[in-house]
Amino acid sequence: VKRVVIGGATHGNEWIGAWLVERWLTHPDEVTRASFETLPLLCNPAALAERTRYIDQDLNRSFDGPSNAEGAPLESRRAAEILRQLGPNGRTPADVVLDLHTTTANMGLTYILTNRDPFNLRMAAWVKQHVPNLKVYGWIDDTLPRRSFSSIVARGATIEVGPTANNVVRGDLLLGTKSIVAACLDFVEAHNQADPATRARVELELFSHLSVQDYPRDADGRLTAFIHPEFQDRDYQPLEHGDPIFMTLDGQTIGYQGRETVYPVFINEAAYYEKGIAFSLTEKQLLNV
Ligand SMILES: [Zn+2]
Repeated sequence: VKRVVIGGATHGNEWIGAWLVERWLTHPDEVTRASFETLPLLCNPAALAERTRYIDQDLNRSFDGPSNAEGAPLESRRAAEILRQLGPNGRTPADVVLDLHTTTANMGLTYILTNRDPFNLRMAAWVKQHVPNLKVYGWIDDTLPRRSFSSIVARGATIEVGPTANNVVRGDLLLGTKSIVAACLDFVEAHNQADPATRARVELELFSHLSVQDYPRDADGRLTAFIHPEFQDRDYQPLEHGDPIFMTLDGQTIGYQGRETVYPVFINEAAYYEKGIAFSLTEKQLLNV
């Protein structure tokens, strides 16, 4: 690995990553390791300046359709610009991309994998050993991978911490994000030094993506229910058949209809109302990596 890119403000209203990247742009020694270059990057400075998630469209769903065309969405042009610099055929290609996000859901410190590249599984396991309360979520389907910043190259991760409001910096989550990034950089350094510790077989608990669940809606597409109070904040807790998931405004409880025990994530994520996602479902797997 010659170059690690750390992205912040891919969403301009998620300030923990933005703050850390701005800090590291002026204090690069804090993310420097001996065997590779670390490049902090503010991914969507225009959205950050406007304190908004994006200007025209979600940058983190734009990397499969970058465009330089005049009149193209700002984020399509920004994705093209980032790929020209850091993509596989770019001027200074990234080997590993870490992308820093926050969520309004109660996901604690979450490490998102978008593929099962052995390097990524081992980096996840390494980070979990150094950050014990870390959760590893394998979002391996067609909705995020290939369109997200962290998947412009095969190696990398999206870091997702919460719960926090947007445009807020919570100290506990900022420090947690820092510890995850430090562990990732230490892993890359150990990997480059051929440290056998990076190849020791370990078990990795992985929450593997199954599906997304939309809100109940009426014929016009308006939401007819909200996340049930007993379900709110229960990210990564087992969800069984019949457990409450939604409540309507007239007080009716809607239960989970699936037969398998699943583990929800992104419960009531603010940015996902527009995407038609009330929460996502995962299954728990134990991998030997
Ligand atoms: Zn985000």
